[in-house]
Amino acid sequence: MRFSQAFIYTLRENPQDAEVISHKLMARAGMIDKLAAGIYTYLPLGWRSIEKLCTIVREEMARAGSVELAMPCVQPAELWQESGRWFAYGKELLRFKDRHERDFCFGPTHEEVITDVVRRRVNSYRQLPVNLFQIQTKFRDEIRPRFGLMRGREFLMKDAYSFHSSYESLDEAYRAMEQAYRRIFERCGLSFTAVEADTGNIGGSESHEFMVLAETGEDAVVACACGYGANVEKAEAGRLPEAPPWPGQVPEKPQAVHTPGLTSVPEVAAFLGLLPAHFVKTMVVETDREFAVALVRGDDELNEVKLKNALGATHLQLASAEKVQRVTHATVGFAGPVGLSGVRVVADPEVMRLTVAATGANRDDFHLVGVVPGRDFNPDLVADIRLVRAQDPCPRCHKPLEVKRGIEVGHIFKLGTKYSKPMGCTYLDEKGEEQPMIMGCYGLGIGRTVAAAVEQNHDEDGIIWPLPLAPYAVEVLNVNPDLPQVGEVAERLYGELLAAGVEVLYDDRDERGGVKFKDADLIGFPVRVVVGKKGVEQGRVEISLRRDKSRRAVGIAEACGTVR
Ligand code: ATP
Ligand code: MG
Ligand code: MG
Ligand code: MG
Repeated sequence: MRFSQAFIYTLRENPQDAEVISHKLMARAGMIDKLAAGIYTYLPLGWRSIEKLCTIVREEMARAGSVELAMPCVQPAELWQESGRWFAYGKELLRFKDRHERDFCFGPTHEEVITDVVRRRVNSYRQLPVNLFQIQTKFRDEIRPRFGLMRGREFLMKDAYSFHSSYESLDEAYRAMEQAYRRIFERCGLSFTAVEADTGNIGGSESHEFMVLAETGEDAVVACACGYGANVEKAEAGRLPEAPPWPGQVPEKPQAVHTPGLTSVPEVAAFLGLLPAHFVKTMVVETDREFAVALVRGDDELNEVKLKNALGATHLQLASAEKVQRVTHATVGFAGPVGLSGVRVVADPEVMRLTVAATGANRDDFHLVGVVPGRDFNPDLVADIRLVRAQDPCPRCHKPLEVKRGIEVGHIFKLGTKYSKPMGCTYLDEKGEEQPMIMGCYGLGIGRTVAAAVEQNHDEDGIIWPLPLAPYAVEVLNVNPDLPQVGEVAERLYGELLAAGVEVLYDDRDERGGVKFKDADLIGFPVRVVVGKKGVEQGRVEISLRRDKSRRAVGIAEACGTVR
């Protein structure tokens, strides 16, 4: 490819909204272009890196026995109503109506669709296991899209789903996927760690997140030299003292109170009189496949969240938890059309514990007061979230734990029968009895992984692509485009490299050497071949490596062979 035809436009300035280096560099290197908040065009260079990762992912999925398909982005509400997530998913789910006023959403994840595909085809244990994946555009209306591709609203995900007739079979697929993820991230040259993740409301299930360690990571993980790693919620689980008893009079049963128009936590809290409203001005609840709760102090701008759909909570995540000061005891009811979630907050300056579960009010605009965890909701549906305390020792070897920042690039999860049961995805076992299929799901952020690679591989001049993700492996750089003898050598070398199957970009632009070097550094091709007047007169070109900037002169005739 010739630079002059490649539609590469580098920028001098960082985008105003760019906070992290990968966002800055990918924008400046002409890889991505913002259309709207969290919505990006992958420009040709960016798309090449994305495609490189997709190829690696496809190879490793195939190795792990997963078969590719492609599901629709637009999904009918009925499927989501079946799984219960139409109400549970909150504002991250982009909902809309077609011309017939039928409800649809843009898929943020595909458990419902895949479960539907499988239930209509598989009905015998003989057809199991099944393992399917896709690489596809998702939409999540993230409350705070930011960091470029890292937290977009429209983004590419590889999502795989497996279906089984036994937990042993699920284990096998889970291990294979874990292995595949390790291979993918290793092949990308990423330094990563797999950590135990909170399993949310599917008690006993297993879940792992793949974290690329980086300062700018939004997740906190703990790591120990002994190999133990976990995200903070998981690390804290089981290590907290029991919550103190419920204060005051415990009502015999929760009371459903009509609270029309209560759509924010301050309102709810003020109404309940249990959460000091001046303290928690805002509680953000966003539900997706998981359930996120953030307690934020009044000075944070996070705001405007409807709690109405916050049902069927499965998993809690604390964001901005460090901003929480002191909450002693609180009960908050989230009303909604099909049920109600009770949240109990027990916290001191160091430790916070949130307990969330679905419990039934079953009426729109009703809240429950006096919910008692354990008594009023199914303990299996309870998720406990705790803030990590860095001073706590490793649960395995009891040495001090280190807290690091990580970027969640992949997440694998044993779902069990969470979707197959409500959606009637069953099979007949050996005895001819109907059983719900046992499922696993395995997500990997494509754009986020590429961005994470940039977070880990850059210097002050630009990106330093690891070879497997580089848009082009080699750039041929003509420093004196005005001199025909130099152009001739550069053209020849470019042709030789192309013929040798090397992915090469030829900077043939009529620009000064300085401009080309700057762009080359910014974009970060691993290998550069510089063709200039002096060298050509001596029969040489210069080959340099982006990573260490090492340079060496080689004869023109040997250049192609050396690069390969
Ligand atoms: P996060 O905690 O960062 O919001 P998640 O836990 O909601 O991510 P999953 O539902 O586990 O995400 O989705 C699987 C993978 O998809 C994630 O591990 C991540 O790599 C990627 N991903 C999720 N949300 C986004 C996003 N908004 N932009 C880019 N990639 C994303
Ligand atoms: Mg999320
Ligand atoms: Mg997450
Ligand atoms: Mg996740």
